[in-house]
Amino acid sequence: MKKSFLVSIVVPVHNEEGNIDPLIDRLKKSLSSIPFELLFVNDGSTDATLTLLKQKAREDKRIKIISLTRNFGHQNALMCGYSHVTGDCSIAIDADLQDPPELIPNMIEKWQQGADIVYAKRKTRNDTFFKKLTAYWFYRLMNFLSDTPIPADVGDYRLQDARVTKFLADLPEHNKFIRGLVAWGGFKEDSVYIDRDARHSGKTHYPLTKMVNFALDGIISFSTKPLRVATYTGFVTSLLGAIGIIYAVYRRLFLSHEYWTTGWTGLIVAVLFMGGIQLITIGIIGEYIAKMYRETQNRPSYLIGEKINI
Ligand code: UDP
Ligand code: MG
Repeated sequence: MKKSFLVSIVVPVHNEEGNIDPLIDRLKKSLSSIPFELLFVNDGSTDATLTLLKQKAREDKRIKIISLTRNFGHQNALMCGYSHVTGDCSIAIDADLQDPPELIPNMIEKWQQGADIVYAKRKTRNDTFFKKLTAYWFYRLMNFLSDTPIPADVGDYRLQDARVTKFLADLPEHNKFIRGLVAWGGFKEDSVYIDRDARHSGKTHYPLTKMVNFALDGIISFSTKPLRVATYTGFVTSLLGAIGIIYAVYRRLFLSHEYWTTGWTGLIVAVLFMGGIQLITIGIIGEYIAKMYRETQNRPSYLIGEKINI
C-alpha cells in the first residue's frame, strides 16, 4: 500500500467548452482527499476551451495545460499527456463526462491492492444504437485478428501505474495503438465497472469514418493476420482456378464443337472475381507499407505550442 502518492489525471480536449466547468467540479469532488495533478492536453480546440482552461489554471496550480499547435487526434493528445505526467499513477479520462469521475477512488483502491492497470469496463453504455453496434463489433473483430487479446468494452478510461505509463511513453513507435499496447505489456490487471453516460455537452468527435480508420489502424498495428488471410485466399482461388482449367481443357478436348465458343459468362465471372481478390490483397499489403512509410518518416506525433503550470 502506497501511503503518500500523487495521481495524474490526463484529459485530452478538443472543443469541449461546455464540459470544462462541470468536469473540473466533479473531478475535484471525487478527489477531495487525494493529492492530484490535472493535465489537460488541448488538441487544437477552436472554441473557448483553451481560454476557459487558462482561467482555471490561474486559480489552481494543480491544473496544468499543454496546448498542441493544432489538432493531432485523440490518441496522440493522450500520448502527449502520458509523456508529461509526474504522478505515481495516471488516469486518462474523456472531457465529456461520459466516464463518471466518481469511480476514481475505486480505481485507486485496486491500484493500491497491487494492480498495475485498472480498466473501467462498460457495463452499460448510453450511446446511440449505431455507436453501440459498431463498438461491439470493433472489439470482437479486433480480438479475432489480433495476436494479443485486447479487453473488450473498455476505452481509454483506465488507471495505469507510473511504470506502465513510462513503458508507453518510451516505446519508439510513433503511431501508437494505446489500448493494444497496454494489454500487450502483460501487466497485472484489474477492473471496475461503469455505466457509460451520454455526452454532457457537444457532440462526438468520432463519426463513422474516424471509427473505421481507428479500427483499421489498430488492426494493422497489432496483427499481420490480414496478410495471412490474403495468402490463404490466394491458395483457395488457385485451387478454384485449377478446377476451372481442368474443366475448360476437358470441354475443348472431349465435348462436341458447340461447347467451345460458349465460355463468355465463365470468362467474365473469373476475370471479375480474380480482379476483386487481387485489388483487396494489394490494398492489404498497401496498408502495411503505408504504416512502415509513416514510421520511417520519423515525424513526431504531436507538436507542443505552449505549457502552463508545468
Ligand atoms: N478528443 C481530442 N482530439 C480529437 C478528438 C477528440 O482530444 O481530435 C477528445 C475529446 O475532447 C474527448 C475525448 O477525446 O475528451 C473523446 O472524444 P469523444 O467524446 O468525441 O469520443 P467518443 O466518446 O464519442 O468516442
Ligand atoms: Mg465521448
